[in-house]
Amino acid sequence: MFYFAPFILFIFKTHTELSVWLREKKSENKTIGFVPTMGALHSGHIALVDRSMQTTDATLVSIFINPKQFNNASDFEKYPVTTTQDIAMLEKAGCHAVYIPEIADVYPEHLPHIALELGMLNEVLEGPKRPGHFDGVVQIVHRFLNIIHPDKLFLGLKDYQQCKVIEALIKKYFPVIELVFCATEREASGLAKSSRNMRLSEAGRTKAAEIYKVLKDISLQYKKTSLENALEAAKAALLKKDIEVEYLENANANTLALTNQWQEPGNNVVLLAAYLEHVRLIDNLQF
Ligand code: AMP
Repeated sequence: MFYFAPFILFIFKTHTELSVWLREKKSENKTIGFVPTMGALHSGHIALVDRSMQTTDATLVSIFINPKQFNNASDFEKYPVTTTQDIAMLEKAGCHAVYIPEIADVYPEHLPHIALELGMLNEVLEGPKRPGHFDGVVQIVHRFLNIIHPDKLFLGLKDYQQCKVIEALIKKYFPVIELVFCATEREASGLAKSSRNMRLSEAGRTKAAEIYKVLKDISLQYKKTSLENALEAAKAALLKKDIEVEYLENANANTLALTNQWQEPGNNVVLLAAYLEHVRLIDNLQF
């Protein structure tokens, strides 16, 4: 006869409650995996949770829409909130705990501003397009890591530039935390999973599949033609599908320095931001 213990997902609203659970896990020598999110969870987020579940003893997810990382107030206000479904998804995934704080719990008065010299990382691509965004990301991730001190932090490569920013933060402030970058989860069509896809019409979702297709095409053109030609052909193909490119660039995958020269194999990353049906989509491909 088998008995299955009922599964419990701990839900914490404050860092004080969370700290009790964390202390208990650490006193039992359990390793902690942390997956920060802004909610509206989809299978891309759950892939990070699964990875944490496989490689750590206790997985903690945060759901917090961080006001500091929105350069556009209406974007912040419109961000989807689907907490009940999120909790159901985390329960189904077997996640151990979720931290869903209020703003005051995360940003108490007099919390010092964290300085991090991002240099190039903030000067290209999302940096100038979303002023203040990465500073907001730095503040929230520093605050969470300072509360949690996880053994491993799981991030999605879908947000490639964000991965690089957080890598710089970890290097300076939390060198003992292991950073785990997880591959982008995609629809069967190739479209990167995103909570923003919900805002696309059926026809829009079909058109949006062109984004991954052109990223792959660019990688297939590697050294067969000039990078410039490959990028131009990609832009033209996107335009045919009504996808308005904000940027489409190749960068050195380590430094994110933009380049019009093919890099060594593995060191290219093509990054894109584009609008379709007024929805801003980002994606990238490393090769
Ligand atoms: P967000 O809730 O959008 O801030 O995302 C939380 C985490 O999930 C970030 O590390 C994202 O990079 C990651 N993520 C979002 N979409 C995907 C995806 N399609 N595949 C893998 N990771 C993702």
